[in-house]
Amino acid sequence: MVNDEASIASDSSDAALILAVSHSGIGVWDRDIPSGRIVYSRAWKAMLGYDEHEVSDRIEESYTRVHPADLLGVQATIRAHFDQVSDNYAVEHRLRCKDGSYIWVLSRGRVVSRDAHGKPLRMSGVTTDITDTVALSDKLRRSAELLTHLTDEVPGLVYQYREDADGVASFPYASAGIEAIFGTTATLAALNASVVECVIHPDDLHAYRDSLAASGAALERWHMQFRVLLPDVGERWREGEARPRRLDDGSTVWHGFISDITVHKQLELKLHDAAATDFLTGLPNRRQIMARMEKELARVQRDGSALAAVLMFDLDLFKEINDRHGHARGDDVLRHFSQVLLHELRKVDSVGRIGGEEFAIILSGADMADAFGFAERVRARLADFPLRDGALCIDVTVSIGISVMAREDAAITASLSRADEALYQAKQAGRNCARIAAHGMHIKASG
Ligand code: GH3
Ligand code: MG
Ligand code: MG
Repeated sequence: MVNDEASIASDSSDAALILAVSHSGIGVWDRDIPSGRIVYSRAWKAMLGYDEHEVSDRIEESYTRVHPADLLGVQATIRAHFDQVSDNYAVEHRLRCKDGSYIWVLSRGRVVSRDAHGKPLRMSGVTTDITDTVALSDKLRRSAELLTHLTDEVPGLVYQYREDADGVASFPYASAGIEAIFGTTATLAALNASVVECVIHPDDLHAYRDSLAASGAALERWHMQFRVLLPDVGERWREGEARPRRLDDGSTVWHGFISDITVHKQLELKLHDAAATDFLTGLPNRRQIMARMEKELARVQRDGSALAAVLMFDLDLFKEINDRHGHARGDDVLRHFSQVLLHELRKVDSVGRIGGEEFAIILSGADMADAFGFAERVRARLADFPLRDGALCIDVTVSIGISVMAREDAAITASLSRADEALYQAKQAGRNCARIAAHGMHIKASG
């Protein structure tokens, strides 16, 4: 066998094949195993930048061209094939070119003859330059890694959510943030979205599902704030935003982002509470009790048999209390009185401080008689519990005006001004008493 093209297929009489191989540009080799001789096609040599006579036919030399880091792998793969562990020999590795640079190749081959004991005698193979493919897959792997690193570093959850046409839902992709956001893993969420749904607050789950369904139906942006209940962590607020897309198979896929808005939400709720609360007494403020009154009037107007009473409280001669004990003590009296009111209040009722020493109460479901009874209880409790501080005891009394909401009331101001008018009557009658508005049942109250 000489080191030329013809030797590659010396057993073959098919000259056409030899010719085809010679001109195909495919790197072909043929190895005589017992003698350690290996011959290469012209294209094989050209692939590495060698001329026809620059490559020896020794297998020892061929191994010197394999990248040192790949050599063990290449030899182990060959051995496995020699030992008939594998049907074919196939391995990706680097080969050194004439100029010292390396190319990536895919080397494939097969033992074509063995002796009676199965010992390999001859092997042929093909070598393909895959440098470009390796570089491309390397680039793809790096950009996939970059994307994963980026999404994993984002404080929140970057995800893909998918609903199949048959309603099966899953998160095919979820960044590492899924653990903090939903207390589950990307692997579990990829199997079924139920691991996420089961931590959504029961009070928000319907709205969550409805909003997703609406977004999917209209293919419009999904946006929602909702609560989750996480084991060992408790209630937390989440905000999600995603865009849906319909796929050819009828499934819908959302790409989106979910973040933790707990701190923001707690602050918002605190501000909301602060805006609705009277700073001095901690009771709902005027705005809040008026809003409550609007709701109550709407209820009365919806349901003809519904009742609601409005009571206006004005502390008697409060100016004198301030004058005698000082403004700070006056504040104590206001706080004390608000506690007296709260003590008599049921859960369904509402209270608010509507002005300096003026308070209002809405008794849901109460008629004039109920409201009058309530007013008398407040007066009695206030008499029983004056404000005490050491030796100091401040007696306080209150005048009360009562009205009931009427279906025909155009606005809450109607029942409010009736109660105000009744309160004026109470003051006129000498204070420390309750009076009922002329509109409605008349009960004369004693002072
Ligand atoms: P009347 O029995 O007729 O209601 O007499 P009054 O003195 O209570 O009536 P008036 O409305 O003249 O006085 C209310 C007083 O309440 C005047 C005001 O200085 C005082 N006041 C209003 N807001 C506060 C407050 O937040 N703290 C204190 N300490 N006093 C207040
Ligand atoms: Mg007043
Ligand atoms: Mg007063």
